Amino acid sequence: MMEFKRFKIKTLAESTAPKILLIYTGGTMGMVFDPVVKSLVPFNFDEILNNIPELGWLQADLEILSIEPAIDSSDMNPAYWGQLATWIEKEYQIFDGFVILHGTDTMAYTASALSFMLWGLQKPVILTGAQLPIGVARTDARENIMTALEIAIDASKGKVFLPEVCIYFNGRLLRGNRAKKYESSQFDAFQSENYPMLAEVGVYLNYNTPYILNEKLDELKVNTVFSNEVLIVKLYPGIRADYLAKILECDHIQGIVLETFGSGNASSEPSFLKLIKEATDKGIIFLNVSQCSGGAVKQGDYATGRSLAAAGVISGADMTTEAAITKLMYVLALDITLQEKKEMLSQNLRGEMTL
Ligand code: ASP
Repeated sequence: MMEFKRFKIKTLAESTAPKILLIYTGGTMGMVFDPVVKSLVPFNFDEILNNIPELGWLQADLEILSIEPAIDSSDMNPAYWGQLATWIEKEYQIFDGFVILHGTDTMAYTASALSFMLWGLQKPVILTGAQLPIGVARTDARENIMTALEIAIDASKGKVFLPEVCIYFNGRLLRGNRAKKYESSQFDAFQSENYPMLAEVGVYLNYNTPYILNEKLDELKVNTVFSNEVLIVKLYPGIRADYLAKILECDHIQGIVLETFGSGNASSEPSFLKLIKEATDKGIIFLNVSQCSGGAVKQGDYATGRSLAAAGVISGADMTTEAAITKLMYVLALDITLQEKKEMLSQNLRGEMTL
């Protein structure tokens, strides 16, 4: 069980006021400059109101759950994902929406993982963070947090139906399992090359309703188990088949996300293809995603892609690597047959791929 602190920021008198749970995990955003040590240090999240007094202007009841200690998101792992999903499940009936403050480095992985864990979600779960700490004058944290909260409040008032795990960053609301961190120095940290943004935020919050999930489901079902018997292998010209062979000998390995060239192509070297074929015959799953951030895997377009299909590799279509690996970890942990796992991986589960 993870340590956490819980406190209320604001409670309005009206019982009908939107209720939003803000979950703080850490990341650059939650740091302030400490003049004594002359560097950035995590600030005590109980003091968030001093750093973002604008929170007090929101017409909503706000409560905070803060992971103790806060982490750099490079330390994120499936145990934290499970904890986040479990909190959302526990508080689901009480709150109208959830905003998760998270480091940017692995935010797209967490957003993808949550999208698979929260089956039947009917309320917004919005991840956000910042490129500059909250204690720095030019910080982007304030705008990102405030807008993520505004969007959650809009959903609770029925202005938009947002039953999705999303990422809000720098004026754009993106589907979480379509987003990728692609910029480490500019404020514009996330992109979603293969799916339109769900909202564009300027003076107004313009929702792109036709692209938002619209499934009405009765019950939230949460599954927090992930397999870690997986790997991502990125191809490059000259990759050695004998190195790959060693990887395939690893104990219990069940699945590999293969990052291929262009529209899903790989070397036509017979020793390489033979290795993959032997592995898939043994029951190891290969999921093919492209190294390009835009476009899709089409295993029939080129002979080099067709050979992968013939070797039993599953097309990941236009999925991001982040969505592919978390989907693989999620599906592999399910108590279903190998064939059913393969079928699930080829299906669009939560808007993560276009078929
Ligand atoms: N290393 C930080 C993190 O991901 C970077 C950030 O928050 O932007 O936690």
